Order: sequence, then C-alpha cells, then structure tokens
Amino acid sequence: MPVDLSSVPGAAGEPQAQYAPPPIVGEGYPLTDRQAELLALAADLGREKFGPRAARYDREASFPFESFEDLRSAGLLGLCVPQRYGGLGADYATYMILDAEIGRHCGATALTWNMHVCPTLWSGTLCDDLDMTVEQRAEHERHRSLHFERIVKEGKVYAQPFSEGGAAAAGKAPFGTLADKVEGGWLLNGRKIFASLSGAADYYGVLCTENKPDRSVRDTLYMAVPSDAPGFSIAGEWDPMGMRGTVSRTLIMKDVFVPDEAQLMPRGLYFQAANRWPHMFTTLSATYMGLAQAAYDFTIRYLRGEVPAAPPVKRRMYPTKQIAVAQMHVQLEQARALFLRTIGEAKIDPSKNERLRAYASHYTVMEYANEIARLAIRTCGGQSILRSLPLERIYRDSRCGALMLPWTAELCLDRIGREALYEYGEADD
Ligand SMILES: Cc1cc2nc3c(=O)[nH]c(=O)nc-3n(C[C@H](O)[C@H](O)[C@H](O)COP(=O)(O)OP(=O)(O)OC[C@H]3O[C@@H](n4cnc5c(N)ncnc54)[C@H](O)[C@@H]3O)c2cc1C
Repeated sequence: MPVDLSSVPGAAGEPQAQYAPPPIVGEGYPLTDRQAELLALAADLGREKFGPRAARYDREASFPFESFEDLRSAGLLGLCVPQRYGGLGADYATYMILDAEIGRHCGATALTWNMHVCPTLWSGTLCDDLDMTVEQRAEHERHRSLHFERIVKEGKVYAQPFSEGGAAAAGKAPFGTLADKVEGGWLLNGRKIFASLSGAADYYGVLCTENKPDRSVRDTLYMAVPSDAPGFSIAGEWDPMGMRGTVSRTLIMKDVFVPDEAQLMPRGLYFQAANRWPHMFTTLSATYMGLAQAAYDFTIRYLRGEVPAAPPVKRRMYPTKQIAVAQMHVQLEQARALFLRTIGEAKIDPSKNERLRAYASHYTVMEYANEIARLAIRTCGGQSILRSLPLERIYRDSRCGALMLPWTAELCLDRIGREALYEYGEADD
C-alpha cells in the first residue's frame, strides 16, 4: 500500500525548511523568564547588529565601537551591576549565556564585553560572598557605588588588563606592576601586555602588587586606572591572527596616581576571590562556546547549500561529510553540557569536584571551539575559507581561547592533574 507523504516537508517537491540554529543553551534548558528575555535581546543584537559588522572589525583590527554603543543603549554595560545601583542585576550564569550568544555573531565583541563585565561581576555579587571586616565592607560599598554609577549613568567602559608576560597572570607570582601608597591614593608603575579594549576603555581594571618588602600574591590590588591619567600611555602594534577587534595593545604606567576609591576590591580581597571563587576565571569560555556553535551552524548551512553568500550547492549527501558533522555535533554537545553544568555550579568555596569540573569545562570549550572550527573548514572545503564568509574568521578567533591566562588549556590540565591527586592548597610531598 502506498505511503502518504503529503505531510512530510519536501516530499511534494516544495522548498524544504531551512536549518534553524538551536538556542545557545540547547532546546528545553530551564531559563527564567528574565534570562529568556535577556537572551532574546542578545540574540537580536547579535544577528542584526554585531554579526554584520564583525568582518570589518576583523579586517581593520579595529575596536567594535558601534557594537558597544548598542550594548550601552540596551543597558547591557550594566548587566551585572546590582539593581540597587541601577544595573540589570544579572548573575554569573545569565552573563555566561548572553556572552555565548553574542560570541556566535562577533567573537571580538563578546570577548571585549567580557573584559568590561568582569569588574562589575567581581566587585559586585562575587565580593558580596567574600569575608570582609565591617570597615572593609563599608569602604568597598563607597568605592563600588562610584564605579557602578559611572557605568550605569555615564556609560563608561572598563577593561581587564592583567597579563604582563611573566608568571603573574597564571597566579604563580606577584604582579610586576607595583602600587606605592601615597597620600589619598596610590602611585602605579608597570606594564600590561595584551590589554583588550586598549584605547577604547575609560577605565582599566589593573591588577598590581602593593609595593612592600617580601610582597607576595596576597598583596594583589585591583585598581581602576582612568584612561586620561597623567603617566598612562598605550604602546605597540596590534596585528594578530585572531580576535583582531579586541585591540589588545600594551599599557604603560609611569607614576600614575589613582585615588583610594580606584580600588575595585579592598586590599587582600583579590587573593581570597581567586582562591575561593574559581569560576571567576571561566568567564572567557563563554565567547568560545558561541564560536563553537557558530562553526557548527555554518557547516550545517553550507553543506545544505543554505549559506546566502555561497553557491546553493548541496554537499550533505556524502557519508564523509555526515561523519564529520556527527563528530562536530558530539563535541559541541559535550562542550555545551559541561558549560551549562559548570555555570550552574559557580559559587564561593565550590567542592573539589565542582572546581575540577570548572577546569574541565574551560578546557573542553576552549579546545573544542577550535577543533570544531578546524573540522568545519576541512569538511566544507576550499570555497568556505574565502574572506567573504565568516568561517575563516571563526577559525582564527577560536584559536585564541586556549592561549588565554590564567586558565590556558595547558594550565587547566596542570591544575586538574595536581588537584585530583592533592587537596587544593596542599603542599607537594
Ligand atoms: C585576543 C587576546 C586578548 C587578550 N586580552 C587580554 C586582556 O584583556 N587582559 C589580559 O590580562 N590578558 C589578555 N590576553 C592575554 C592572555 O590572557 C595571555 O596572557 C597571553 O595570551 C599569554 O601569552 P604569553 O605567550 O605571554 O604567555 P606565557 O606567559 O609566555 O605562557 C605561554 C604558555 O605557557 C604556559 N604557562 C604560562 N605560565 C605557566 C606556569 N606558571 N606553569 C605552567 N605553564 C605555564 C601557558 O599554557 C601559556 O599559554 C589576551 C590574549 C589574547 C590572545
């Protein structure tokens, strides 16, 4: 008896539905109403504004100023500023989901937005969890209200320059940038490399060390340095392989005075945060989760002949393509599963397994993003690497994640291996 195929899409020769990319959290993930609303906002901005501009920022190695203007207008510069300071009051998990969505459309916008959001998240909800004296808490309240007001009312942009080219950004040595206490504030001297948003930020959240004898990582300070402070300058070229729109040049500080209220965390608190709130370092992975999804989505569309700027040639019928897509799908879902589980576990004093899982998640997202993009290029073939298409940019951008301190892919493995065999903070045998 003949089977009635009239209700099957495409069976009657009519055009088939085009590939509909899934939400970045996958279907059925339990978002709150507020998260769903914010995610829809990020998706609209990404699709309509950030994505179409991404190629230009990449080609010019120029900062995504227009996209930051859109983030500002949408209130997203204050995403993680607590509501009582006028921000949107979003938590860590909400931020991670939104940044991953933006990363699907423009890696550089997502990564630089991360550098701006971190100071708000760290001096906001993260600091609320830390142990402080009553005096420290009151002082921090005064300081952060100033920083939050700048962001929410004046639309100021913060950056996150830690790296110095030595062992400090990996958490293994005190920062070489030094802060001397002077009347009413601090004098900063030092140099930061790879400072994303260089020339675009209004304030740079600099990690430095209080200059005193026998200084150690416990003496780390976290200061917002204004871009127009005397003695502050930006140097060096920026012409890298990937993430070109981050414009991550070198910052030089020579006797830069910052007032006491420049502190984004009270003295000694950064050390406590880094040890007790390890998920603070996983925020970088969100951008790369988005890039992994983007590489996969491109491949599906390309093999189905649905990429608008490419010829409508179908290549999906070849078993080798199908196997490659299956590999990409498995890696993408592995990365997403770990990512979503980990963002739900971020908190102060996570258990040993939660801490190890955070490293594993970070490692997986950073490595798989590039692996999925690599497979995408091999599978789609030569025409897919033309600069008129986004895949080669996604590939180059995705290469950068595993290199980013403090949790490079190598250092994640170092930490997993050691901390699985020892307890956190335990000395070598
Ligand atoms: C696009 C982009 C944007 C960036 N933006 C910023 C930013 O905004 N702010 C910022 O602070 N940094 C930023 N960085 C810098 C980044 O976090 C790293 O600091 C930088 O990539 C380190 O490069 P390096 O070659 O100097 O690393 P090195 O310190 O020379 O390390 C090389 C490798 O050795 C390993 N390694 C390093 N230290 C140790 C150790 N103690 N033990 C074992 N292994 C170790 C790591 O795996 C590392 O990848 C950015 C980097 C990129 C690529």
